[in-house]
Amino acid sequence: MKTDFDSLKDLHQYYAVHNTCALKTVATQPVYEIEPPSSGILFIGEAPGRNEDQQGRPFVGAAGKFLDELLHTIDLTRDQVYVTNVVKYRPPNNRDPQEDEKKDCRVWLNSELLFVKPKVIVTLGRHAMEKFVPDGKISADHGQDFTHPTGIPVFAMYHPAAALYNPNLKDTMKEDFKKLKEFLKGLETKTKKNRKKNEAIDEILDM
Ligand code: URA
Repeated sequence: MKTDFDSLKDLHQYYAVHNTCALKTVATQPVYEIEPPSSGILFIGEAPGRNEDQQGRPFVGAAGKFLDELLHTIDLTRDQVYVTNVVKYRPPNNRDPQEDEKKDCRVWLNSELLFVKPKVIVTLGRHAMEKFVPDGKISADHGQDFTHPTGIPVFAMYHPAAALYNPNLKDTMKEDFKKLKEFLKGLETKTKKNRKKNEAIDEILDM
């Protein structure tokens, strides 16, 4: 796996060529962000939808608008965080990404994680959560934090699109974002205690 990139743009351009995800033949383009987060907070969604596929940027449709609203409730803006997806191409008709598609995009996501070195990973929905909290269950574990074997804190959230389909989840997500804010406040101390050296991030690559 190539890991020495000068910028996120270089990284994405490299993996857009060097990936085996079958969705690349049916999607318009890969979807990614190119600015690292000033806050160190990295969100991971599932896969791009129609708007993202057209614009080449993650979370620019209805789910993205709700994500922006949620960020606003905790005094963050989109340009302070980094948002990516488990799968970089839109699955046809927004179906769930398949195991082989998730697997074929994994090296790309791992490489992003190595580049960004996030201080916290926030998983949006079960497809993102399963990589970092393999025994987790989103309905029970949303709004809670976990520690990945690398020492990187992981915070589990429902996917914002789930709240668009089930409006009852909107308030749940707002509550979970409040918990995220509290968690972020306490993070500095916790991070110093728990985090192993940067090389340990390589363990992500095996997961
Ligand atoms: N849903 C996702 O999981 N990712 C996007 O980029 C947009 C919607």
